[in-house]
Amino acid sequence: MAVKRVTNRTRATYSLNGKRRRMAGVLNRLGEEFKPWHGYTDDPFLELVGTVLSQNTSGKNTEVAYNRLTSKFNTPEQFMRADVREIQNLIKPAGLHRIKSRRLKQLARIVCERYHGDIGTVLRRPPEEARRELLSLPGVGYKTADVMLLFAARRDVLPVDTHVFRIAKRLGLASPEDDHEEVKAKLEEVTPSGRRGEAHVLLIQHGRRYCRARNPLCKVCPINGLCPKVRVKIEGHARS
Ligand code: SF4
Repeated sequence: MAVKRVTNRTRATYSLNGKRRRMAGVLNRLGEEFKPWHGYTDDPFLELVGTVLSQNTSGKNTEVAYNRLTSKFNTPEQFMRADVREIQNLIKPAGLHRIKSRRLKQLARIVCERYHGDIGTVLRRPPEEARRELLSLPGVGYKTADVMLLFAARRDVLPVDTHVFRIAKRLGLASPEDDHEEVKAKLEEVTPSGRRGEAHVLLIQHGRRYCRARNPLCKVCPINGLCPKVRVKIEGHARS
């Protein structure tokens, strides 16, 4: 039976301080590689629209659909009154256009009726309360709620999407068995305050270009020197 040797370097890699150092190094290196991204708009309702459109599709498709849609409709009232088939046609490039168009109409109606047309009233509440309220909305899951808190309410949170979730585990910043909320909590703990939004956008870009779900490009990855998964593979101590 193989005995796993716990070296000083392994201990340092997985200690809280080791993870904090690694995350800072990852952000600095990825910051040289990718551009920061600043969200869609300062309008919180349109941020919600963009986030719903982005579900299960690429950034490029989201942008095309978002621009087509918002050239026609801008306010919750306009969305509420719009013909659902017109919304469907406009957002086709983002995929799932039937589901997303119905969801956008539903959200617009709730924003008009429950928040008097201003979803900012939710975002100005204390962060935990705002998150709970956002999660109660149809089609709003953890990632969408946290994206709203980050980009529309400017809160220092780290939204976890599928790329961020995968990379956190590969970098050893979260455990293989952690669920979404555990990954989020662990990432926020090791990310310097004020850099969580930056971490979100950089890790997504990294996941799209290098740290892909299948066949990650480890040999040319700009942070392979910081990745325990690669180091472990090279040293032959563990299976990936
Ligand atoms: S070295 Fe490989 S597994 Fe590690 S972050 Fe880079 S692409 Fe991902």
